[in-house]
Amino acid sequence: MLGRVTPPRVPLRPAVADLPAYVPGARVPVGAAAYKLSSNENPFPPLPSVLAVIDDAAADLNRYPDMYATELTEALAARLDLDPAGVVAGTGSVAVLGHVLSAVCGAGDEVVIPWRSFEAYPIAVAVAGATAVPVPLGQDSRLDLPAMAKAVTRRTRAVLVCTPNNPTGPAVRSDELEAFLDAVPSDVLVVLDEAYVEFVRDPRVPDGLAVLRDRRNVVLLRTFSKAYGLAGLRVGYAVARPRLAAGIRAVATPFGVSHVAQRAAVASLAAERELLERVDAIVEERTRLLTGLRAQGWTVPDSEANFVWLPLGPRAADFAADAAAAGVLVRPFPGDGVRVSVGEPEATDLLLGVTAEWRHTRV
Ligand SMILES: *Cc1c(COP(=O)(O)O)cnc(C)c1O
Repeated sequence: MLGRVTPPRVPLRPAVADLPAYVPGARVPVGAAAYKLSSNENPFPPLPSVLAVIDDAAADLNRYPDMYATELTEALAARLDLDPAGVVAGTGSVAVLGHVLSAVCGAGDEVVIPWRSFEAYPIAVAVAGATAVPVPLGQDSRLDLPAMAKAVTRRTRAVLVCTPNNPTGPAVRSDELEAFLDAVPSDVLVVLDEAYVEFVRDPRVPDGLAVLRDRRNVVLLRTFSKAYGLAGLRVGYAVARPRLAAGIRAVATPFGVSHVAQRAAVASLAAERELLERVDAIVEERTRLLTGLRAQGWTVPDSEANFVWLPLGPRAADFAADAAAAGVLVRPFPGDGVRVSVGEPEATDLLLGVTAEWRHTRV
């Protein structure tokens, strides 16, 4: 009606209105055939023993799950030789990261993050109401821990350390991490995101659990999504001192981890040997991919994870389009580079075909 004033709209929190969208890896279109190397997924399907447990657990779907995923928490504590009070399960380690941040920070607080790194970080920090302080990667696409330590101020409540770093691949080494932890005040939380820890082969890379024993301000994040191949079930966990773990648990989504996810995760721990053989196969394939790329003349950083990084800069999107045309979906970060997950050997061959073509014509 003419002259009528539009009633005011419900405002979104400014931090939410400004959030960058999380860009998921490209999906294979229905009816098309392509290798999906765009989301760091495990190329192997679930083990028959795990599928059988999932089938069995589905019969209880009319019930709420155990609020604290007690069976899984205890199985993890036994496996990792920890107090169960220090283990907090959640719907993927991304969700657990959100809980960690809401437990320790709020408006006006700062969280130091490496960049480029996992794209969920700036979003999770903003959702927690805090301000992300990005610190550029250093040489060879590695985390610049000295610069990250320098970025800590009185307002810093947490630092996120992605090791191995998604999407570039290198992991932090013990000496670097110890120097960093010595430099960071003991009341600033250091989150070691070890989503890819099972793929690490460099002996200079520390075991987060050993670090956690010595440092009260460290939290580890781990997941069943990558090495254990359960990305679709959404289950990950944090390990921390019991006091911090209680804070994380207090803000977590009630009944987050489903009964099916919990039973599948427990079954995966029981089948760990078989699953870690698959991880060995992926690590071998990673070596084949890295070696193949370097033999073609590419300069690529070392990877301790299940992906490799092609620092293509402004040509990232073009490369991803060419790879898709060849039947391989990869993950471009426009203007920066392309992340290629390690998958089936046939996918590696196709990808190396695209990279060889690019060496001849585009680089
Ligand atoms: C994949 C990934 C995770 C794990 O995500 P889930 O929510 O457990 O599936 C966490 N951190 C990083 C850096 C990752 O790449």
